[in-house]
Amino acid sequence: MKNLSIRTKVTLWFSVSLIIVVALTFVSILFVSNQVIQKTIKDTLIETVEANIDEVEYYPEILQDELDNDADYYLEYGDGFLEIDDDFLHSVNSVSSAVYDSKKEIIFGENPIAPETADLEFQNKEIQEIKVDGVKYYVFDRKIRNIDVEGIWLRGVVSEEQGSLQIHSISSISLIALIIILIIAILGGNLVAGKMLRPMEQITAAASKISKGNDLKERLYIGPGKDEIHRLADSFNEMIGRLDKSFENEKQFTSDVSHELRTPIAVIMTQSEFALENPCSEEEYRNALQVIRRQTGKMSDMVNDMLTFVRLGNENVVYEKKKLNLSALTDTVCEEMSIIGEKDILLSYEIAGDVFVNGNEELLTRLVGNLISNGYKYGKPSGNIRVKLETEDNRAVLTVEDDGIGIAPENQERIFNRFYQVDGSRNSRGTGLGLSMVREIATYHGGTVEVESQIEKGSKFILKIPLF
Ligand code: ADP
Repeated sequence: MKNLSIRTKVTLWFSVSLIIVVALTFVSILFVSNQVIQKTIKDTLIETVEANIDEVEYYPEILQDELDNDADYYLEYGDGFLEIDDDFLHSVNSVSSAVYDSKKEIIFGENPIAPETADLEFQNKEIQEIKVDGVKYYVFDRKIRNIDVEGIWLRGVVSEEQGSLQIHSISSISLIALIIILIIAILGGNLVAGKMLRPMEQITAAASKISKGNDLKERLYIGPGKDEIHRLADSFNEMIGRLDKSFENEKQFTSDVSHELRTPIAVIMTQSEFALENPCSEEEYRNALQVIRRQTGKMSDMVNDMLTFVRLGNENVVYEKKKLNLSALTDTVCEEMSIIGEKDILLSYEIAGDVFVNGNEELLTRLVGNLISNGYKYGKPSGNIRVKLETEDNRAVLTVEDDGIGIAPENQERIFNRFYQVDGSRNSRGTGLGLSMVREIATYHGGTVEVESQIEKGSKFILKIPLF
């Protein structure tokens, strides 16, 4: 059973249930038909006997002329005559009727089982049953009253066998009809199951095509619809879409990383080759070593950032979050970074006390540090960086604002992409990973980071994360 296809299984279950239903229907048809037929037979027996009863009359005397000319039947009985009308039905609809005298002898009519019913007591207006040679007979007796003589009975007899014949033909017809219906339903069911499961085959084919060819651009098209299979196909497409996007991202990331690492490596190579192959003064050696150190530092930052990205994306290496005093953390970072004093930029900060978030200290320190260090990098000499921490609608809001070079509107969203640097910043010591890291960390804390900026006027980065 386990190895059968769903289509075969569905068809099998469907067929078994249908066979049970058909069998029950067949039995019910037979039962009901039998009841109806037996009732009809009994009703016919009663009707025939009741009709015949009016055809029997008694006359104390009768004219010879009448005896000769009348079509009716006359029987001498007692002191008079019994007249049996010619309408008397001896045998109709398989019902036989016979008139019995007081000695229980048939004086008129028919009874095919007369010897067997001889001992059967007359029961007025009651149907009795008797079995003769395995065949059931119904017997219905009526006492003839309203005439002057006693002891005259009318007995009707009918065999149940004619009912069996009808049941037989009903059962053959219904059996054939039900078998035809069964075959049509099973074939139809099989076709419908096949049709409904066809999209599943498409899904299987597409999935194996994807796994064989590694083609994540493949999508399923199974036409319009909203049923379970269409929803499955939609989820499948969505899943493949996400896989495709994440593979593309990874590809892009790897290619960006190798591309970005190439520049510092090339600079280090050139510097070291130059210093080794040419006679240099001590100062030239120093310069070369400084360049090498700067580039190595850049590579080291990049590798560290990349490691953090990988960890943030890897659910197994979770940066633990706990109740964290963001006010204290921001204060410490600002205090440490205000000493930098690069380009004579003044860092001022206004921090609301006891702002608690559910966060990771290492990541949030890096986030605040990144934003402030960008303020120094892209701020104008003797400019200002203003850091503010406040709360708003159950969220901690941290803004880092500078009055530096600003960012053009078309770049304001791109700066959050990995390795994206606005042209003028390409040669800076940055890696282009800082802001994408900031956004990743904000998302990791269930928050957002946005920028508002005007070229030559300055930029304002706004971080919002839920309070603890
Ligand atoms: P980088 O290492 O180059 O600083 P980031 O991801 O931190 O990388 O920033 C991306 C780019 O966004 C920077 O190269 C710079 O062009 C721009 N940028 C970031 N912060 C600021 C800022 N405060 N003012 C102006 N431009 C900025």
